[in-house]
Amino acid sequence: MNIKNYTHCPECGGKWLGDPIPYEDWEKYDPPYFYSRLIEYRDNKSENTAAFYECPECRLFFPAEYDPEKTDIHVWNSILNTYANLVDTIRCGKDCGGSNRDEMLLELNKILKPHIYK
Ligand SMILES: [Zn+2]
Repeated sequence: MNIKNYTHCPECGGKWLGDPIPYEDWEKYDPPYFYSRLIEYRDNKSENTAAFYECPECRLFFPAEYDPEKTDIHVWNSILNTYANLVDTIRCGKDCGGSNRDEMLLELNKILKPHIYK
């Protein structure tokens, strides 16, 4: 199921629906007409669709198409975080100051995608 159809986090129960969208803006959105509190991670090359989302409450990442029967979300999150931290260290080094973490998360998502969307 598309993660945008969830009104609450399936893991922590945190609210994902934000404030109602004013009627005059409904044509720009799909129902239900509420702003989403989910944090989107976008792949620059496909700007219209988010690669994955983050719960604003428990900070877990969720794939755009999430089926709890097929994806162990805790395993998926630890792989995503481990990869991001590991590759960031290799590419950037501990003294470079910046972080490529978000970029690395998107990169791994591309690798994992075929296994998530079975
Ligand atoms: Zn949550």
